[in-house]
Amino acid sequence: MDTNAQILRDDWSSWWAVIPPALWTLQGVEHPLRTTPRQKAHPVSLWELQRVYGAEPAYQAVLHCARCFHKELPERDMPAVPATGTQREDLHHWLWTTAGTSATFRVLGACGFRLHADDPQIKPYVSLDWIWLHPYSRHRALFRTAWEIFIRRYPYILLEQPTTAVRISLYGRPAMTLATRDGQELRLYTQSPECAQHGPMRQGASGAWDCYAKLPDGHICTATWVAPKPIRDVPAVRETHGQRTATR
Ligand SMILES: [Zn+2]
Repeated sequence: MDTNAQILRDDWSSWWAVIPPALWTLQGVEHPLRTTPRQKAHPVSLWELQRVYGAEPAYQAVLHCARCFHKELPERDMPAVPATGTQREDLHHWLWTTAGTSATFRVLGACGFRLHADDPQIKPYVSLDWIWLHPYSRHRALFRTAWEIFIRRYPYILLEQPTTAVRISLYGRPAMTLATRDGQELRLYTQSPECAQHGPMRQGASGAWDCYAKLPDGHICTATWVAPKPIRDVPAVRETHGQRTATR
């Protein structure tokens, strides 16, 4: 054994290494993400993948990210990433990439949406079933800036078991609650606030959003939506030292 080695790299530590996949080609629709001045040197793109001939490496990269997701959150199911030959119109996969060094693209993360169009009572919507970003790509607003693209692409999005980080980054975004045929309540995110019965609301001078749709009885719908306070204005829950130690 090399006694000069200050740290040990063995099989166990290589299990912990998170190697992002690299790709030579990508098939799909590229959406460049809005970047901060600091990110200008390494712009990030979001790719909406297409199940076409030659797209297999991209789906291999998605599968790699899905495995990383499952390794990190083993209590969640392994995400479904069928091979490109499989006809799965309901599953949509996206990749975050930046320019690679040895290959054309370096994959920073992936996510998977599932289309739900089986309940005639509510509009078709997608669920964001899983998302994984490389640990070094987190806290760089990659999900928040991608959301602007997702919510235009899919008007109604349900978050499937969101992590705290995802929930915080979507804090204050418009959403509405709809009831399915079997009485289940769904919280769907929308681009602009919508009334569950009458669709998009209008923003008034005060900044609040109102439905104002005319009802059959001559009244107007009073549904309204007010943006929540900025998260920094929400008082933090402070625990006493006693409470903190008691929960350990
Ligand atoms: Zn209404």
